[in-house]
Amino acid sequence: GKKDGRGTYRFFESGMDEELRARALLERDLRKAITEGQIEPFYQPVVALPGRELIGFEVLARWLHPERGVLLPSEFISVAEETGMIGDLCYALLRRACRDAATWPPHLQLAVNISPQQFQDRWLAEQILAILDETGFPPNRLEVEITESALIHDLEATRATLTALQNLGVRIALDDFGTGYSSLYHLRELKFDKLKIDRSYVNTITMSDERAKLVDAIIKLGSSLGLVTTAEGIECSGSLDWLEGQGCDFGQGYLFGKPMSKMDADRYVQDGPPE
Ligand code: C2E
Ligand code: CA
Ligand code: CA
Ligand code: CA
Repeated sequence: GKKDGRGTYRFFESGMDEELRARALLERDLRKAITEGQIEPFYQPVVALPGRELIGFEVLARWLHPERGVLLPSEFISVAEETGMIGDLCYALLRRACRDAATWPPHLQLAVNISPQQFQDRWLAEQILAILDETGFPPNRLEVEITESALIHDLEATRATLTALQNLGVRIALDDFGTGYSSLYHLRELKFDKLKIDRSYVNTITMSDERAKLVDAIIKLGSSLGLVTTAEGIECSGSLDWLEGQGCDFGQGYLFGKPMSKMDADRYVQDGPPE
């Protein structure tokens, strides 16, 4: 059959399934968005428990699409992962976040999400370091969040990368804890600094005793291993009070603030949460 460019083009125009076509356009737009800086860091507040004092922000990607408005990660992160663009996306985002955070008081931390795919890149730690050097952001203000699916691919490579980052002072958080399938194994095999309890647990604390017991056990497990814990997705003061009472260290969720633009985060840093 014909394999020249024109043949491919004709196929694309006429016969291609709508979904594939939309996907191809999305990939093309995403590539452009990354190089043109349309992917922006939004910031969700993280507070200390008790006291609710702001300790930093988690960086969450938002695509400010010129035609479609603000797109959430669920619309583009998996595409970036599948097409090998996630590294470029992540580094561009981290660079901007480090610059934004440079104007905040030095006790405020940044947490960034790293995709499982990125742990296949043996230069991950070097790349992150280069960005910290370039922006002057201190490694000890940065936390890297990884999910358990990052760990199942290549445990040795992951261990090497995590150790390289930790040796520089970057902290490592195990994200979405409780949703993977071999949590305890990974807790034994790798040294984390923090556990982030998935919001699917946090949301239901006040609804069911079993859930509450499970969350309590996770907090105790963390502290017995010398890890601090963050509860994600806190939406009501009932959950907050309970978590505080159980000794959970940090909290994050709509109760304290949704992910917000740099401008709103500046205001939050200055004046605290809006009334
Ligand atoms: P995640 O890392 O677990 O981030 C927390 C998600 O929960 C965010 O969704 C946040 O907006 C949402 N959330 C926080 N508090 C609450 C709450 O109280 N209630 C509810 N209902 N939701 C809450 P978002 O921003 O849509 O991000 C979704 C996921 O996309 C993230 O989950 C993370 O896995 C991924 N992601 C976001 N940004 C990046 C990035 O820069 N790189 C990578 N690799 N993944 C990213
Ligand atoms: Ca996260
Ligand atoms: Ca999470
Ligand atoms: Ca999640």
